[in-house]
This record gives sequence, C-alpha cells and structure tokens, in this order.
Amino acid sequence: MDISYQNEDKKTGRITMLLKDSNAAFANALRRAIVELVPTMAIDDVELVKNSSALYDEMIAHRLGLLTLKTDLKGYTPRDECTCQGAGCAKCTVQLTLKAKGPCIVLADELKSKDPKVKPVFPETPIVQLLKGQELELECTAVLGRGKDHIKWSPGLAWYGSEPTITINQEKVNKDLYPPQIFDKSGKADKKLITGQLVDAVDGVSDAIKVEYSATDFLFNVEPWGQLNAREIVTTALEILGKTFTEFETKLGEAK
Ligand SMILES: [Zn+2]
Repeated sequence: MDISYQNEDKKTGRITMLLKDSNAAFANALRRAIVELVPTMAIDDVELVKNSSALYDEMIAHRLGLLTLKTDLKGYTPRDECTCQGAGCAKCTVQLTLKAKGPCIVLADELKSKDPKVKPVFPETPIVQLLKGQELELECTAVLGRGKDHIKWSPGLAWYGSEPTITINQEKVNKDLYPPQIFDKSGKADKKLITGQLVDAVDGVSDAIKVEYSATDFLFNVEPWGQLNAREIVTTALEILGKTFTEFETKLGEAK
C-alpha cells in the first residue's frame, strides 16, 4: 500500500490523499482512527465562581467544551494513559481562567491559559453577552481526550471514495445531457474538468462517458477543525493503528 498527498487547501487546511493498492477495510479503519482515536485538547471541567449572565451555568460550560483548542501532542499524554492514572496532572490537563464584567461580549480569546500553546483556535468565538453589571468568573480544565468519548475531542472530518477512471467517447457525447462545466473552450468534454461532484453527475448518463471505480485505490480527504493540522492528524492516526495491530498480534500470540 502507498499513501501520497494530492492536494492541500490552504484556506480550510483540507488535504486529499491517494491510498493506492489498499482496500475499503483499511480506508475505513483509517477514517475511524482519525475521528475517534486521534486525541485533542478540550475543556472538560468548569468551575463557575460567578455567573450573573443570562445563560445557565450548564450552557456556559457546554459552550466552553465545544471550543477548539490548539493541541500540542508532544507535550501531553491522553488522561487515561497518563502516569497520574486519570487523576489529572500537568502532563494530561491544562488550567484556564476567565474573568469578565459587562457590558461586553465575552470572547474565547479572554480565556487565560496556563500553557500559552493551548489556546482557542478561533479567538473571536463568542461565549456569552454580559449586560451592565453582569459578571462571569470561572476556572476550567482542558483535558487531552478522544472523539470516541465525546465528539468535542474529534480532530476533524474524514471521508473517502473509490478513485474513478473516466473514459470519453467524444463523438457520442450529447452536450445537452451533461453539465456545461465539463466542456473546455473548444466545446470538447475534458476528463480533467470532471472532478468532485461532477463525477457523480456524468456517471450513468449515457455510453459516451464511462466512469469506473477502483476497488484498490481511494481518494481520502481530511478536513481539520483546527486543533491539529491534517498531516499531524493522519500521521497520528497511522501510529495509533500500527500500535493497535501490534498489540493485537501480541495478545493473539499469548492466547495460543
Ligand atoms: Zn496526568
């Protein structure tokens, strides 16, 4: 099997990779490892000292939990694998504090983190609006966790599809049946222009354009939420899969 990077969208950070000589089982294992097993930082515990805002304590805690936090995987260990055995320590958790007085809109940026590397990815995210005289004061704990326990720890979206091969019989193409985007300036259907959703749009319309899907090659996409970049996500997911398979092999050996 071979993995190569095909395309990277600078704005969203989304990458497309080609998994060559692979199979659907592996592509799906990689997808699940990305969504459920690659750890990220998220707020998991909130202690409200003062809250005279219009939102209930639970609502504020929920909003804080869903903030995406920049994650430093080298500096932290998932809490359930940590030497503190889940109690919480500096290797698996970070403290953040917030203090605000109205009138204002409290933004994610106002959270003060003990570790400057762990901070909100989108500082402009509003948490709550405070009117004159209203106050909010809280302390929270961010924990390195995984998407299988709560989706707030998931690092992004992952999806894949079989790589299509397109064959065009130019003489047979009826222009009225196909989307205009697939034709070049001279009016000829162009394979290079048939990408993304257009592949589905031309598939099965007539014999003129044939789409065949590979059983061994997959186009695999990863769109990060921002805690980690797409390459970090893929590398970490592959490491986790490797470890899981080795563990499985060892246990299988012991069972004999
Ligand atoms: Zn710990």
